[in-house]
Amino acid sequence: MKKITVGNWKMNLNLTDSLVLAKNYVKEFKDFTGTAVACPTFLALDGVAKVLAASPLKLGAQNMFWQPIGAYTGEVSPADLRDCGCAYVIIGHSERRQWLGETDQMVNQKAKAALAAGLTPIICIGETLQQNEQDERENVLINQLRQALNGLSLNNNQQLMIAYEPIWAIGTGQAITTKDADEIHGFIKAYLRKIMNSAAEINLHLLYGGSVTANNAPELARLSSVDGVLVGGASLNATEFLRIAQAFNK
Ligand code: PEP
Repeated sequence: MKKITVGNWKMNLNLTDSLVLAKNYVKEFKDFTGTAVACPTFLALDGVAKVLAASPLKLGAQNMFWQPIGAYTGEVSPADLRDCGCAYVIIGHSERRQWLGETDQMVNQKAKAALAAGLTPIICIGETLQQNEQDERENVLINQLRQALNGLSLNNNQQLMIAYEPIWAIGTGQAITTKDADEIHGFIKAYLRKIMNSAAEINLHLLYGGSVTANNAPELARLSSVDGVLVGGASLNATEFLRIAQAFNK
C-alpha cells in the first residue's frame, strides 16, 4: 500500500506566508514520487492550488460542511473545495471538536458528503490524556469510529483515511512510541475490518498524527500498520516536511 504524508498548516500562516510555504514545497518536492498533501486555510486554497499545480503535491482542506448548497452562513461546500483543486479534506480534527463543538454525528455527515463529492476524507480520531491514563482509549476510539463510519461504505474508486491522533501528542513534542503506535494501529485496523465493507480493505488508510518530525518519521514509517502521517508543526518547514514524506515513500 502506498503511504501518504499530509501537512496540516492549521491557522498558522497568513495568506502571504501560505504562498511562500507553497513555493518552498514546490522547490523541495520537485523530484518526489509519492503522495504528499498540503492543507492550507480556506482562503489560501485557491492561491496555493495555483502554486502547486505544476508539482507532484496534492491539495487538501482543513474542514468542510456536509450540505452541498444553501443558507449555511460561514460554511464551505464540498463541491467548492473540489473546484478549488482539493482532493482531500480533514474532518473532525480534535481542535474542531474542542473549539467548535464538532460531534461524531457531524463527522459522519461530513465524511459521507466528502465521498459523494469525490473528496477523500481524512477522519481524525483520538483520546485525551485523561482517557488514555484511565485505560479508556480503546473504548473511545471504537465509539468515535462506530459513529463516524455509521452507514458509510466505499466503492472501488473511493478512498478513506483515518488519522489516529492522540490529543496529548498533538503539538506537544511528545509523540507516541513506535511499539504503542503498532499496537493501537493493529487494534484499530482489526475493528475497521469488522465494520467496513470489503473495498475498504484496500482503500482505507490508517495514518498517525501527533508530534511527527523528521527524526521520528523513519521509525514510524517502517511499521506496516502505519499507512502514513498527519503532520502539523513540522509541515510548516518545507525541508522537514519533505524528509518526513521521503521516509514514508520508501
Ligand atoms: C495535527 O495538527 O494534526 C498535528 C498532528 O500536529 P503536530 O504534528 O504539530 O503534533
